[in-house]
Amino acid sequence: MKHLLTLGLTLIIALSIHAQRPNIVLIVSDDHSYQTISAYGSKLMQTPNIDRIAKEGIRFDKAYVTNSICGPSRAVILTGKYSHKNGFKDNANSSFDGSQNTFIKELTRTGYQTAWIGKWHLQTNPQGFTYWQVLPGQGSYYNPDFLMMNGERKRVEGYVSDVVEDAAEKWLTERDPNQPFCLVIGHKNTHRTWMPDTKDLRLFNQSKFTLPANFYDSYETREAAAVQDMTIDKTMRMGYDLKMFASKEEEEKDLSIKRMTKAQRQAYMTFYDSIHRDFQSKKLSGKALVEWKYQRYMQDYLATAASLDRNIGRTLDYLDKHDLSKNTIVIYVSDQGFYMGEHGWFDKRFMYEESFRTPMVLRYPGVIKSGSVNSNMVMNLDIGPTLLDAAGIKIPNDMQGKSFLPLIKGSAKKGRDAMYYHYYENGEHSVSPHFGISTGRYKLIRFYTRVSGWELFDLEKDPSEMKNIYGQKGYEKVTADLKKKLAQLIDQYEDEEAKKILVIH
Ligand code: CA
Repeated sequence: MKHLLTLGLTLIIALSIHAQRPNIVLIVSDDHSYQTISAYGSKLMQTPNIDRIAKEGIRFDKAYVTNSICGPSRAVILTGKYSHKNGFKDNANSSFDGSQNTFIKELTRTGYQTAWIGKWHLQTNPQGFTYWQVLPGQGSYYNPDFLMMNGERKRVEGYVSDVVEDAAEKWLTERDPNQPFCLVIGHKNTHRTWMPDTKDLRLFNQSKFTLPANFYDSYETREAAAVQDMTIDKTMRMGYDLKMFASKEEEEKDLSIKRMTKAQRQAYMTFYDSIHRDFQSKKLSGKALVEWKYQRYMQDYLATAASLDRNIGRTLDYLDKHDLSKNTIVIYVSDQGFYMGEHGWFDKRFMYEESFRTPMVLRYPGVIKSGSVNSNMVMNLDIGPTLLDAAGIKIPNDMQGKSFLPLIKGSAKKGRDAMYYHYYENGEHSVSPHFGISTGRYKLIRFYTRVSGWELFDLEKDPSEMKNIYGQKGYEKVTADLKKKLAQLIDQYEDEEAKKILVIH
């Protein structure tokens, strides 16, 4: 009898602890810039659903990534470790070692139902999830294929953000309601080549966007910025990116268009053909041509963001409808920031603010006060440890990120005082590998391999990072202090490759 009573009590305690464990929905988009989110003050478009997460939760104004590129960022989120530790350094040569520990494995091990649905982009199949269904590679905007857990490859008709959300809701509906869950929704939007849903094609067609002040950057004092290959002017392609195909034969060869249904293709090409005719009649060249490309880029990019935001709204509605909102943490984050014409660019990679920084909003009812704004320096590295902290699971000692839960709950005041960054890929877009440190006020970058040299920026005086002041009189002490702190962080994070470069130079 006594035994039974003890057992009963233990069960009750176990169940009540269990009931308190929060569910988690982590939404990771691709290349979505904070400059285009209305919660961050953007006037370019409205993103009511991302805004809703911020309004009912917290907006991070200083959220950053450790390596600004797709696959590496996802690997950092999963492992809570820098690229040199998790092994996925770049999109070109890396393959994720799924046998290593991840925050997901910790959740699965302690009874969470875990799933990753949508864009994954880590080359190897997911491991440690109770369910997964991912887009192969970059995935397709229209009628995407999915790699399924049973080894099947399945094509689903529809627009990618809709069908990813459909699959996510199906999984939520079929899960065991008595166990907590962690669902990662990986969106393809707003990745190149910015193919909008047919119903969104005309959303921004009449809009005219103001060029960023540094659109015609001449890259003086910044050698790596001068040798890149990611400008709207020279790099962005008329056919592949902007759907202005030189001929029907060229259009035929485009694999993204080839996979459309007849109806999709007709709606899609009717729209672009009319733009193409108008474009040809204008006979643009020089600045007029570059600015035309910028407008088209913005219009298509924002249209893909509209579908992304709408589907984030569907996730929130699902949670409401199924009485899950109260006990579910929702995080929205992009895998990095993106250039919306600043410096004349699209794409990412650089440690400059637009790509280094990423949008991140979080809702955690009962824990985080509605409408909070946080200006601590947090990183994608911290997401895994934070979620484990929220779930009451011990953070493994070898995870390099830190839980930001104490910072947002108000139980800790001081976060990190500097952030370490390391970008490796030396290929597409010709961005020189580099590492560096930012204290929020100053940023010191060390380029190596393609370009070799230092850059220093005073972010208060020069927020657009137009003037490299490295080696200038008056900055000797600032530079020495930053170098010392950089060496400390390299040591702390055990980045042996960067350590060698620091010693050599
Ligand atoms: Ca990305």
